[in-house]
Amino acid sequence: MNNPDYDIIVVGGGIAGLAFACAMKDSGLRILVLEAGESPVYDPDSYDIRVNSINLGSQAFLDALGVWEKIAAKRAASFHEIRVWDSNGSSIEFRAEDIGESELGYIVENNVLTVSLLETIEQKSNIQLMTGEKLCSVECESDIVWIATEQPSRSSCYLVVGADGGDSMVRQLAGIQIANQKSYGQRGIVAQVQATESTNGVSYQKFLPTGPLAFLPLPDGSFSIVWSCVTERALELEAMEEEAFERELAQAFDFRLGEFRMLSHRASFDLRKLRTDSYFKDRAVLIGDAAHVIHPLAGMGANLGLMDAAALFEVMKPFAEKGSDPWNYQCLRRYERWRKSVNSPTISLMDGFDWGFRNSSEQLRSLLGLGLSLTNQTRIAKEAIIRLACGLAGDIPDISRRA
Ligand SMILES: Cc1cc2nc3c(=O)[nH]c(=O)nc-3n(C[C@H](O)[C@H](O)[C@H](O)COP(=O)(O)OP(=O)(O)OC[C@H]3O[C@@H](n4cnc5c(N)ncnc54)[C@H](O)[C@@H]3O)c2cc1C
Repeated sequence: MNNPDYDIIVVGGGIAGLAFACAMKDSGLRILVLEAGESPVYDPDSYDIRVNSINLGSQAFLDALGVWEKIAAKRAASFHEIRVWDSNGSSIEFRAEDIGESELGYIVENNVLTVSLLETIEQKSNIQLMTGEKLCSVECESDIVWIATEQPSRSSCYLVVGADGGDSMVRQLAGIQIANQKSYGQRGIVAQVQATESTNGVSYQKFLPTGPLAFLPLPDGSFSIVWSCVTERALELEAMEEEAFERELAQAFDFRLGEFRMLSHRASFDLRKLRTDSYFKDRAVLIGDAAHVIHPLAGMGANLGLMDAAALFEVMKPFAEKGSDPWNYQCLRRYERWRKSVNSPTISLMDGFDWGFRNSSEQLRSLLGLGLSLTNQTRIAKEAIIRLACGLAGDIPDISRRA
């Protein structure tokens, strides 16, 4: 068989999969995006409870794809400062002005991101979207990959991109091994709340001995919270009456934002970390949560997935332009080495923070607090941390560099 149905099939229409398809929009390659769920919908009258903190590197990537203008036309909140403290009162502040920028990043609802990515893809005739189709088989036959869905339907391609999240079927079916997997024994509670006292454009995070609690600013002045808590406590908090939860929230946050009023229901997610042995095997390659799942404490998950998409696009681009196969071994291996060298240390760092601040040893927590305070007073170290976290430094894809 010489000519498969598609050049590339992307399994998973989340942020990573859609961003990769979008980056390949002018490649001339025939791309299918297969998504098990229905197309996301954006409703200007209500907020999506799931939000992402988008750093400046990711924003530049989305801008280069023509997606950022669509996001900005809907809703995104910029923040220029992050205030972090722990239960002993040690603190650190990161300000955009410390690195000569006007923002540190943006809080963007999940559906605003995915709908905007879809709008960009829909304009391209070489990209097709199939929703409500769940992948159930992947078979590699010399240089062609066959995939089948539960419907059932069968399609072939040269390369399958697994962007199907933490429980990736592509990963399992392609035989890519998990190198390291751990449940944090925590759940992340998310909700939208209104505070009685707040400053515009400031994001807050407190490290509690039970896990970190973050307040991410939304465009209307309210906040999206991510309260990572040991499972038992999280289930207790989720089951509480609204008023009791509001009181617990204010107390846990030292009343720094005054009192709270719930604006949405509460939802919670099991928190875990996951790393795969490799990022590709034969003609299957992984991006986003399919390859790595990270603790949400620094809001890096979607950013890492977006940078995977940008890097895979960038290693494939010169081959696609020359008309030679961009799914060759060297190309996929380069992508894997590049992204593993960034993703693995980032996951370990978040792991270390979570372990340290939740450690039962008061001495260790005090030492970490001291580290926070010292870093706060060391300009060069602080600047370097901000640049890395903002996606402005390190081995970043050219497409995500700011003009
Ligand atoms: C509580 C919490 C808070 C977070 N906050 C932040 C934050 O502030 N900033 C940040 O950057 N990240 C954050 N993250 C992480 C971020 O949400 C994820 O890293 C990101 O959404 C992963 O995107 P993805 O596209 O790789 O995977 P997903 O979003 O999981 O998308 C995978 C897609 O694949 C589809 N799919 C799955 N299986 C199949 C199949 N068999 N066939 C077809 N389709 C399939 C799914 O329906 C889904 O649409 C947070 C995570 C949690 C749990």
